[in-house]
Amino acid sequence: PPLYMQRHQFVVDFVKKHQPKKVVDLGCADCRLLRKLKYHRDTEVLVGVDINSAVIRQKMYALAPFPSEYLQPGDKPLTIELYQGSVIEKEPRTKGSDLVTCIELIEHLPFAEVERFSEVLFGYMAPAAVIVSTPNADFNPLLPGCSGFRHIDHKFEWTRAEFQNWALDVCRLYGYVVEFTGVGKAPCNENVGFCSQMGVFHKDISRSNSFLGTENKDDTTSYRLLYSVVY
Ligand code: SAM
Repeated sequence: PPLYMQRHQFVVDFVKKHQPKKVVDLGCADCRLLRKLKYHRDTEVLVGVDINSAVIRQKMYALAPFPSEYLQPGDKPLTIELYQGSVIEKEPRTKGSDLVTCIELIEHLPFAEVERFSEVLFGYMAPAAVIVSTPNADFNPLLPGCSGFRHIDHKFEWTRAEFQNWALDVCRLYGYVVEFTGVGKAPCNENVGFCSQMGVFHKDISRSNSFLGTENKDDTTSYRLLYSVVY
């Protein structure tokens, strides 16, 4: 299957295993991942965020319930909310999440904004778990015709060492533990890692008392609601 499907399947498998109640997808684009996640009835709140409202609007009505879902509602209602907003802004409605996904998002941020993003995500939103995926620059020589970045909108692409340094820094600063994995295996036994590298972060329970999220003085909303449905 194409790489984006493998990344989304990774998230779906995580959701099946950990059954998060509130999931926030940052950089949700056309909500393709959210459309897959809405079938998991343990999830009660699904939130999608993208800076580009046009890309969200393309297919957002596909998140509406099917008639059968009205006729046979689950035990608990599912709320879906889509917002236009930037992931470097603090938004109270993203707090209290069990899982935040950032699939192929971070490399679209100007490098100077990455630190702020890390603080908003791990320090302010402070979810129980985070999944981050980003291109692995070590893999690029294996991609035909790839000189430079994989996409013109990428501001940077990290090697495994660079990604892992960032992730380990974040863990130290905000009290998380991380496992590294990925999707898209190299042919043969080339030691280049996965095509998409991923970090799966969990809040470190043993340190959680000292990391209760950053101060809430600026708890005004910054996102704009584009769509919401409850069923
Ligand atoms: N996550 C999707 C997926 O799995 O297929 C698509 C990711 S797409 C490559 C990157 C998305 O990040 C774009 O839709 C873009 O508009 C969004 N984005 C870029 N900068 C952002 C920001 N500061 N805040 C929110 N979204 C942003």
